Amino acid sequence: MGTRATVILEACNEYDPERIRRIVRAGLEHLDLAPHGRTLVKPNCVASGKHFPHAFTRPEFLEGVLLALKDRTNAPLDDFAVGERCGITVPTRYAFKEAGYYPMLQRVGARPVHFDEVSQVEIPLDHEDRLRDSLFTPAPVAAADFFVNCPKFKAHPWTTVTFSLKNYIGIQDDRHRLIDHDHKLNEKIADLQYIAQPQFIAIDAITAGEGRMLTPIPFDMGMVLMGDNQVAFDAVCCHIIGVDPRSVPHIRLAHERGFGPIDLDDIDVVGSVSLDEAKARAAGFRVGLIPVDEYFKGSSIRAYGGTPPQPSNTDYCWGGCPGALEEAIEILRQFDTGTDDKIPPTHIVFGAWDKPLDVNPGEKVIFMGDCATYRGPVAGRDVVIENVYQDRATKKPLDAKDVDIFGKMIGTTLAWQSMRSKDVLEIRGCPVSVAEQVLLLVKLGKLKNPYMDPLVALRFTNAYLGKRARNAMNRLLGIPYNRPGAALRGAAKPRLQLPVSTN
Ligand code: SF4
Repeated sequence: MGTRATVILEACNEYDPERIRRIVRAGLEHLDLAPHGRTLVKPNCVASGKHFPHAFTRPEFLEGVLLALKDRTNAPLDDFAVGERCGITVPTRYAFKEAGYYPMLQRVGARPVHFDEVSQVEIPLDHEDRLRDSLFTPAPVAAADFFVNCPKFKAHPWTTVTFSLKNYIGIQDDRHRLIDHDHKLNEKIADLQYIAQPQFIAIDAITAGEGRMLTPIPFDMGMVLMGDNQVAFDAVCCHIIGVDPRSVPHIRLAHERGFGPIDLDDIDVVGSVSLDEAKARAAGFRVGLIPVDEYFKGSSIRAYGGTPPQPSNTDYCWGGCPGALEEAIEILRQFDTGTDDKIPPTHIVFGAWDKPLDVNPGEKVIFMGDCATYRGPVAGRDVVIENVYQDRATKKPLDAKDVDIFGKMIGTTLAWQSMRSKDVLEIRGCPVSVAEQVLLLVKLGKLKNPYMDPLVALRFTNAYLGKRARNAMNRLLGIPYNRPGAALRGAAKPRLQLPVSTN
């Protein structure tokens, strides 16, 4: 192994754990890596199950990686765990169950860690251009001695792609994840890199996901990619799909801050698949970075992507409410095939909008998000929508609260009762999350509520109650972290421990 960052490209057309094990073991050998101490593997399990079959790192892939890590272990590990915080409002234990992780973890001998059920530690930041002076992360992440990033190869409607760097959005629980999850999302992802860097990366690119992140379109790429540096890794993934890595802000920022090389000349790209062959396998892969106005063209929703709060280095909020609407509609289409027919003609406005709104009498106009601003006529009536955006400096992570989905459902129902007869609606928040927009559209179009789907409701509620019971138990026992006595990794320098989630 040299000192240059290495990315290994291997062919693998099937989800065969033993084959993946051999490939990953050879990759670890090439990189001269062996797990040690507290070994933590972070998959991408943002959403899983029947309706999200291509959104997550497949259990067979994870099993192959875990077995390969065990093969490379020279001495007993202090811990061997798989940890994740799945999509907000969904209990991670539900996502793990639907992904089929539990029986696999038991087979392999690794323990699950639900990042929404452990204490969070504060990591101070002191680099230039940081969004805030510290970040919170689950204690097991900060304590890991050998950290493995095991993402899914996917497009992303907010950040162009989600490979290795972007997978870090799942190392924060809900209350911290939503902070700065707006037009500064790429900067937030770059800041998250200061928490920890993985020693090893293995991405599930056997069936990749194009176009979207929660409901991606399956794309058979037939590859396993591995590496030892996140920036180099993501840069090579970008080249494979024909995207300039410098055009992806979180990759460029992480590179500029010294986390790794971005130019192919500075990266050793090795393996049995050449870069050209990898590009051929990925030919036609769509990233899906589509502005909301364009995304909804031809549907009953007319969306308007106004400018986010200024001054800003962007005139579109890629990381917040507009992209959440795109994901929300795709989720609803999964659960209710009549979604597009049922939603009445509706106008949804994001950010500051200073052009005319072409609204017919009786059509609803929804101003979405704290920064929604408008002064002008709506169907012949003068309307003033004020910007209520609060500067991010006023948002205190210590005061942040978990998002309770059942609370959201009750809140949305009550809010809808008072708004349903109005033509102009204001939905506030920064961001207004995917879950909230799903619930709003359910009300608007009288659609099937995904959370109440008979196939989902019972298992989801069980997981929700299980999570709440675990957190209540942790608080009762005064256990801030479920491995008492675990020292935190020196490099992370946490200075304050939050209690377990209050959800
Ligand atoms: S309110 Fe929504 S659109 Fe406005 S900055 Fe926040 S996340 Fe972006």
